[in-house]
Amino acid sequence: MGGVRDVQIRYKKLFINNEFVDAVSKKTFPVINPTNGQVIAEVAEADKEDVDIAVAAAKAAFARGSEWRTMDASERGKLINNLADLMLRDISDLAALETLNNGKPFEDALFDVHCAIDVLRYYAGYCDKIHGNTIPSDGEFFTLTRKEPIGVVGQIIPWNYPILMLVWKWAPALAAGCTIILKPAEQTPLTALVMAALSREAGFRKGVINVLPGYGPTAGAAICLHNDVRKIAFTGSTEIGHLILEYAAKSNLKSVGLELGGKSPLVIFDDADVDEAVEIAHNAIFANHGQNCCAGSRTFVQAGIYDEFVQKAAEKASARKVGDPFESGIQQGPQIDKPSLDKVLRMIEAGKNEGAQLEAGGSQIGEEGFFVQPTVFSNVTDDMTIAREEIFGPVQSILKFETLDEVIERANDTPYGLASGVVTKNINNALVFSQAVEAGSVWVNCYDAITPQTPFGGYKKSGFGRDLGEDALKEYLHIKTISIKVPTKN
Ligand code: ADP
Repeated sequence: MGGVRDVQIRYKKLFINNEFVDAVSKKTFPVINPTNGQVIAEVAEADKEDVDIAVAAAKAAFARGSEWRTMDASERGKLINNLADLMLRDISDLAALETLNNGKPFEDALFDVHCAIDVLRYYAGYCDKIHGNTIPSDGEFFTLTRKEPIGVVGQIIPWNYPILMLVWKWAPALAAGCTIILKPAEQTPLTALVMAALSREAGFRKGVINVLPGYGPTAGAAICLHNDVRKIAFTGSTEIGHLILEYAAKSNLKSVGLELGGKSPLVIFDDADVDEAVEIAHNAIFANHGQNCCAGSRTFVQAGIYDEFVQKAAEKASARKVGDPFESGIQQGPQIDKPSLDKVLRMIEAGKNEGAQLEAGGSQIGEEGFFVQPTVFSNVTDDMTIAREEIFGPVQSILKFETLDEVIERANDTPYGLASGVVTKNINNALVFSQAVEAGSVWVNCYDAITPQTPFGGYKKSGFGRDLGEDALKEYLHIKTISIKVPTKN
């Protein structure tokens, strides 16, 4: 795979008004390859001045009478489909750059790009199907509603799925007719810049899409505080989610959607097929190196199969292939950066010190890059740090339970509520759990069943608002009510 590994980094500047430009300050920041810790590019670093310029461009693109505002809705759909076509044309380069910058296995990056293409196509079809109602209002009125794009939207995304998160945000916003300022995570700006170039090639007009690499407290905060930005769509940590709401309150009360952290329970009843349950639980936590907001990071296993499950889960984790993400068959590459690796190692230490039983892994791998062993703990109890805090790494915590009522209470005993899962052959267990769990998604006898059509988002401190599905479209639309007086007697 030498060719793929040698992928070129062509775009390193800010993308504003369909041009690649330097930052006003001329500052750049280093982008690191997590596989070896080396700098792979210096990328232009946006700050408030650049945000002001980009927002002005996005505002002009959204102005009444602009090409973007007056375009047929079906034409917007064609542009979105064009972007999907171009991604498919360049899929190998896109995936290779994702792997280089993020460290995820190349096959996984390819899968992410395919998923992103599916999301674009799903929303492309929506563009000319966004319509309001006619309403039989009381009185002498003929009332109708219009769904109108909210305006300039700021989108701030994390580093764990750089292309996929970008598309989750772009696709419904573009389908609705909004214009966009996107800030990729500082760790992973490279594929976002390629997507910017592809959007221009796809035919999106000047200012409709702007991409500003940079840091959160500078560029990110400036986007959130800007009075001409009408909405922030944010995916990231709960800690920063609090700040985003403050920014909205301090500026123009812009609307906010937050997709935040999680500590998702996956509950396995002892009627389950153990091998199948081990497989589901393994993928639930180890997918994307555990760097997954909806990771099944608390594996609850019923007492009758607990010991067998723990033994098989540990064997499976130990067999996981960790290494160079460009090598075929590798299942886990490096964690994203040194602070992330250090946090995972700290959490593993906390697990050991607080009395959990280490069943597999537990250590860093090598000195180069940010690799850590797939790790399994058994005898985890609800009060332990590893059962309460988000680890965002390949660490499985297995807890024991006895009854349905008990496990529902324990599953919900967390400030988070993003996702959950249940593995059982008993319909009652599945339905009672599905209804009682406080989480935005429940996956029964599966996990991570995320598709373009299915809304995804949180309860409690996992945030609010939804990505994907028809519900994400609503996040980018105002509803305008128009009442026309129609005298009933002439
Ligand atoms: P993580 O801990 O997973 O890196 P963060 O919430 O820190 O998650 O980052 C997610 C995104 O939020 C990134 O694009 C980051 O730059 C951005 N971000 C971080 N701090 C702020 C901030 N103060 N204001 C706006 N965006 C921020």
